[in-house]
Amino acid sequence: SARVLQQTAAQQTQETPKGHTTKLYINGEFVDSKTNKWIPLRNPATQEILTYVPEATPEELTAATDAAAEAFKTWRKSTVLTRQRIMLDLQYLIRKNMDKLAASIVSEQGKTFADAKGDVLRGLQVVEHACSLPTLMMGEKISVSKDMDTYNIREPLGVVGGICPFNFPAMIPLWMFPLAIATGNTCVIKPSEKDPGAMMLLAELAAEAGVPKGVLNIVHGAVDCVNYICDEPRIQAISFVGSDAAGKHIYERGSRNGKRVQANMGAKNHGVIMPDANKNTTLNALAGAAFGAAGQRCMALSTSIFVAEAQEWIPELVERAKELKVTEGMQPDADLGPLISVQAKERCERLIQSGIDQGAKVVLDGRGIKVPGYENGNFVGPTILSHVRPDMECYREEIFGPVLLCLDAANLDDAIEMINDNPYGNGTAIFTNSGANARKFQSEIDVGQVGINVPIPVPLPFFSFTGSRGSILGDLNFYGKTGIQFYTKFKTVTALWKEEDADHTRSSVNMPT
Ligand code: NAD
Repeated sequence: SARVLQQTAAQQTQETPKGHTTKLYINGEFVDSKTNKWIPLRNPATQEILTYVPEATPEELTAATDAAAEAFKTWRKSTVLTRQRIMLDLQYLIRKNMDKLAASIVSEQGKTFADAKGDVLRGLQVVEHACSLPTLMMGEKISVSKDMDTYNIREPLGVVGGICPFNFPAMIPLWMFPLAIATGNTCVIKPSEKDPGAMMLLAELAAEAGVPKGVLNIVHGAVDCVNYICDEPRIQAISFVGSDAAGKHIYERGSRNGKRVQANMGAKNHGVIMPDANKNTTLNALAGAAFGAAGQRCMALSTSIFVAEAQEWIPELVERAKELKVTEGMQPDADLGPLISVQAKERCERLIQSGIDQGAKVVLDGRGIKVPGYENGNFVGPTILSHVRPDMECYREEIFGPVLLCLDAANLDDAIEMINDNPYGNGTAIFTNSGANARKFQSEIDVGQVGINVPIPVPLPFFSFTGSRGSILGDLNFYGKTGIQFYTKFKTVTALWKEEDADHTRSSVNMPT
């Protein structure tokens, strides 16, 4: 019924699920939860219930940490070469199973098959990077006096937790557990309750690659599960990716409990379109970055600032957006799939309406789109609002749907000021043929990831994901050098090896110099 369809996955629980249930993964075993709270997971293109996700019981959550804590005792002593070999095998297995992983993402999350493969690939690249583990783990050494050396050794933290969002069901878990275990930690990972399927497949592949039992554990649930991870004293660090509200809560609660926390949160990414840019390349890039994954990317370019006469390009952008095909993600010609839930669709449509009510002009309206064969899906078609102003609700909120907001600026200075005034700092891009404009933008913009003629400037894993300001809490970014730092601590050793014994016996009580 319509009422049933409108319940959120997280709200609706029932005692005895009939049909497929998602397992927990504890101590190398896929186990049935004994909970009586189940979250139905629906295919967002059809509303068909695919599985019921358990809210793990307190005993099950403890069992996952017990397994991780026990496994840490031996895993921390494994050699870097053993862990490197496992990463090499894991990257091979992920590549081999890419289509299976992507198909799971399409059915649970809704994005298109091609885009889902990109989701897997961008996570796989972190595993590939983890294959250079011996170099990444190297410490530093220097002789500080004739017979004395000081060196530091990177050591793992212990049990670490990961809490994931729905929008990249493979990539984001892969930002977390491969680096965590490659550096010698053991993990308790909570995938999104909206689409845990890809993480479950990754656990199978990790076991096949040789990750020992207890090193990787998966728990499911919602707020109680998250709070357990924040409070469990044996969990040393938490990696979180998701919304602002959850991120602030987890950062504060985890930090208060003495944990190291990295929390990547929401975004409002702006593109600046200069009139000297290559028009076709720029308009293609804007349409792809605004509407790809139905706008459900934290690095989606959801806001564009057209400078001076570039404003005249908006009608052509509308034409390109109209060409995009909205349908179920496995359809061969699909460009955009559905939004994750009925609520996400309603919220997106409400924010579009609020923009119109506050004076924006809807130059392309994707609301009410009918997708033949998928009439129950949470579809919103590409939508473009022009004449948007920074005081409007649609500008202040992260919409997380296929909606591109268009603002005007007289010049580059005004565009930069507008972006720097926005609280978020995840990503931004400039489209221009002027090196001087690009350089000015790069140096004056206060956003952590900058694209120059590149619409979604997500750095490859040898760099780090460097979102800034309102888009992150914590000091150490995901993956790259800072990812290694996040999952390790230095032990610094000062060693004295003299060839001969000292020639006098009186002790010195002064501070050593
Ligand atoms: P979400 O915050 O709703 O959920 C993320 C995780 O937090 C889930 O595992 C969920 O169970 C848990 N959670 C949700 N509400 C909670 C609460 N009140 N207390 C404790 N835990 C809670 O996020 P989402 O909707 O799954 O993901 C979309 C959001 O993630 C967007 O804001 C997007 O910008 C952001 N995101 C950011 C990045 C980045 O790197 N900056 C990447 C991907 C997604």
